[in-house]
Amino acid sequence: MTVDSSHPETIVLHAGYRADGVTASVAVPIHQTTSYEFQSTQHAENLFALKELGNIYTRIMNPTCDILEKRIAALEGGVAALALSSGQSASTFAVLNLCQAGDNFVTSTDLYGGTWNLFANTFKQMGIDARFVDPSDPEAFRRACDARTRCFYAETLPNPKLNVFPIREVADIGRALGIPLIVDNTAAPILCRPFDHGAAVVVYSATKYIGGHGTSVGGLVVDGGNFDWEKHGERFPLLTQPDPSYHGAVWTEAVKPLGPIAYILRMRVTLLRDIGAAMSPFNAFMFLQGLETLPLRMRAHCENAVRVAAFLSGRPEVTKVIHPSLQGGAERRRADAHLKGGYGALVGFELKDGRAAGRRFIDGLKLFYHVANIGDARSLAIHPATTTHAQLSPEDQLASGVTEGYVRLSIGLEHIDDILADLDQALSQAS
Ligand code: PLP
Repeated sequence: MTVDSSHPETIVLHAGYRADGVTASVAVPIHQTTSYEFQSTQHAENLFALKELGNIYTRIMNPTCDILEKRIAALEGGVAALALSSGQSASTFAVLNLCQAGDNFVTSTDLYGGTWNLFANTFKQMGIDARFVDPSDPEAFRRACDARTRCFYAETLPNPKLNVFPIREVADIGRALGIPLIVDNTAAPILCRPFDHGAAVVVYSATKYIGGHGTSVGGLVVDGGNFDWEKHGERFPLLTQPDPSYHGAVWTEAVKPLGPIAYILRMRVTLLRDIGAAMSPFNAFMFLQGLETLPLRMRAHCENAVRVAAFLSGRPEVTKVIHPSLQGGAERRRADAHLKGGYGALVGFELKDGRAAGRRFIDGLKLFYHVANIGDARSLAIHPATTTHAQLSPEDQLASGVTEGYVRLSIGLEHIDDILADLDQALSQAS
């Protein structure tokens, strides 16, 4: 079913499903099955030939995953989605669905470290050239592209710098050149809908806020259905030329009766079929549970984060606090243009006494968990210089925004008094 509401609070509860047709189960059932019985040989043949859409095998589709896919597509204002085994597989598929050896794409330098590695090293081994540009200059995307550029890539709210990416400006540059923008919106669900600002594809690590409770790893790719692949057909041979792996199907033609889903359909029936990074039905159920309270949780996360940022700003042990609520100038204008209802729940700060103080602060925390994760209901902290960024040279650490005394917080849903009390006592130990 489609839900007749534009309100996220309603969409997350109702889009894509209303009581199971057979059992009347109100909660979405976990379809823990590998396969689906065909009604006849003709039925099986039609499914494989995509003449009829239906379930074949859980590596490629599953009814629980299907509801999650419909719900996230509705929430984002997209046309269809694909659930995958992790955020990493989502970003991998998002790019591989357009690029092959000899192609390139232009990406923001401000990326999650795992994505940076994937782009700079693994894609390089595959003959795909990731061209990194500074996102504070949107025109850098134009300058870096050529006839073999297949997409632009960026994160809405990348840490540690927490400068909101200029989605609108870069999407507009790309659309004029026939290049789609892929946006990783992991840190800003609900707050930002990248399709409203011109993005063509949205990627999530569902592991973070969508799951919301630190229980499950998963990823999502959402197709905006708003990019004209045929108009710029020469850039997208994977979508507009016969696909030898599928009886010569031309995906932009094949989807004509189905709607503008060439991008996501190809991803499902070729990349997911071949590489197999499928989300388990159980994890899809966990993400559906998370989605139901996502709007409420994001509001509460953001309210607590603003309070934390203000609190840290007044502390003598702290030299700098990083949160969009404290920004001015162009950065703040971009944050206000792209985020609605809050500035996110990641807060960075720098301790006056550097690396040793960072260690003492983390070791002193009692309520916050010391983990390499974000987006849990619990408050989390990490000292990047000794953990996530320890392998980088001091120069590369600085370029990525990580100083010796930098601490990253992911603010949770505990009572704000308890969060501030824990920060207060850990800061006292850090000085
Ligand atoms: N994108 C962002 C912004 C992330 O923070 C992460 C993980 O930390 C990922 C992608 C990768 O997601 P996953 O850990 O689910 O593979």
